[in-house]
Amino acid sequence: MIPRPSDWPIKIDLYSDTLTRPSEAMRQAMASAEVGDEQKGEDPSTNALLDLVRELLGKEEAVLLPSGTMCNEIAFAVHCRPGDEILLDSTAHPLHYETGAPAALAGAMVHAIDGDHGVFTVEQVDAAVHPASRYAPRSALLSVEQTANLGGGRCWPLEDIRSVTTAAHRHGMRAHMDGARLFNAVIATGVSAQDYSAPFDSVSIDLTKGLGAPIGAVLAGDRNFIEEAWRLKQRWGGAMRQSGIIAAAGIYALTHNLHRLADDHAKTLLLAEMVATHPRIRLDPTSVQTNIVVFEIADTNTTAADLTRRLLQGSGIRVGAFGPSTIRAVTHLDVDLDDIPLVAAAICTALDSKSLATQDD
Ligand SMILES: *Cc1c(COP(=O)(O)O)cnc(C)c1O
Repeated sequence: MIPRPSDWPIKIDLYSDTLTRPSEAMRQAMASAEVGDEQKGEDPSTNALLDLVRELLGKEEAVLLPSGTMCNEIAFAVHCRPGDEILLDSTAHPLHYETGAPAALAGAMVHAIDGDHGVFTVEQVDAAVHPASRYAPRSALLSVEQTANLGGGRCWPLEDIRSVTTAAHRHGMRAHMDGARLFNAVIATGVSAQDYSAPFDSVSIDLTKGLGAPIGAVLAGDRNFIEEAWRLKQRWGGAMRQSGIIAAAGIYALTHNLHRLADDHAKTLLLAEMVATHPRIRLDPTSVQTNIVVFEIADTNTTAADLTRRLLQGSGIRVGAFGPSTIRAVTHLDVDLDDIPLVAAAICTALDSKSLATQDD
């Protein structure tokens, strides 16, 4: 469970890049947005946001949705019939954080592939696909997470994306990219969002992670796909009215906060380099590519939950415990570069503290 800010004052929050608050300029853009009825396709700001995303991703059509979760789940339900199978990495967001929605909403089974930091190979895809038969579930969809969140923000290389999606299409499957942090990969690698998106039948992006908007995500694909997606958006209660208020924040985010993602990557790399020197931390800082660092604590009785609680209580620093000994820290707009040495020192001090292994709270 995420510790509550009200329990302890949080000074530096590295729990997630979703914690950013809209800047004054973004709020101004929201306040002055032109609006209309989104459900009728008449909200000018939403339409402008969708035009921008279609151009960035090179897709025919797009739809604004409340969240990245809804993008994934609508995509799954459009691409799959009940009983179909979705191939994705064993660390993938829909498998862990979407309340079983692939089963509940699409009626689909998920087949988890054990990739490396969220990135799997074409051989693994070929091995996971069921041969067409009257008995096997139909392998219907391949889903790729860019960047791989629990993979420590790992970027899928473009060649790997091309090879796994080519294999999926060869097997008669469709391919979806969960691009919640696609633009982190774009900034880290220099590969364009269009090139990353081209091999996929559908792509989602999140406006509320590193881009810093308060609400919203966009799902894109061809006209037929988006028409079907719209039916589910309506059915599941995701259609909106004057959504220009949030679309304006999305436009602001995509025009002002995209290139500065490089700053977040620099902060995370610095943090990784600093904590990796500690003997109880298992982390290769050269594996850090974007704004997320995931590391293990070892040779100590301290659990990740203990460490996160102590950091919060002792230093007002919040990071996430993502396993018994796994810590995740994420940088974003509201974390300063100057904060990073303080965070690293606090983590090392908490690990060195003798009382850690003996206290029982
Ligand atoms: C955050 C996230 C989502 C879900 O996005 P929400 O907007 O929080 O619903 C999906 N996939 C990945 C990889 C994410 O990190």
